Amino acid sequence: MHELSVAQELVELVELQLADSGPIKVNSVLLRIGPLSGVVPQAMRFAYDAATAGTRLAGSSLQIEEVAPVIFCQPCNQERALPSIQRMRCPVCDAPAADVVRGRELEVVSVEVIDDDR
Ligand SMILES: [Zn+2]
Repeated sequence: MHELSVAQELVELVELQLADSGPIKVNSVLLRIGPLSGVVPQAMRFAYDAATAGTRLAGSSLQIEEVAPVIFCQPCNQERALPSIQRMRCPVCDAPAADVVRGRELEVVSVEVIDDDR
């Protein structure tokens, strides 16, 4: 499953950021996922539990912010939200969508930590 390797990379990234942070654990991670990122949110949730086991992120919750796809349409000279990524064309003038403005995101928005020193 592709999402598992993505989830593992995510865990490594967060672990690295927290390397010098002392005894803290991760409470939740907010991830922004675009529909063109190739990552399926549902599969990501599933992979997250497996990838976080035995790490500082174990037991943390994964929040996912899904981004709506937006293109910049040259003929319209405007940004247009796409109703779906099945059809990568301007919903107004039907020109092929050349410039994707939003939708490819796969990024960590925030990491919420809790003190593990209790
Ligand atoms: Zn257009």
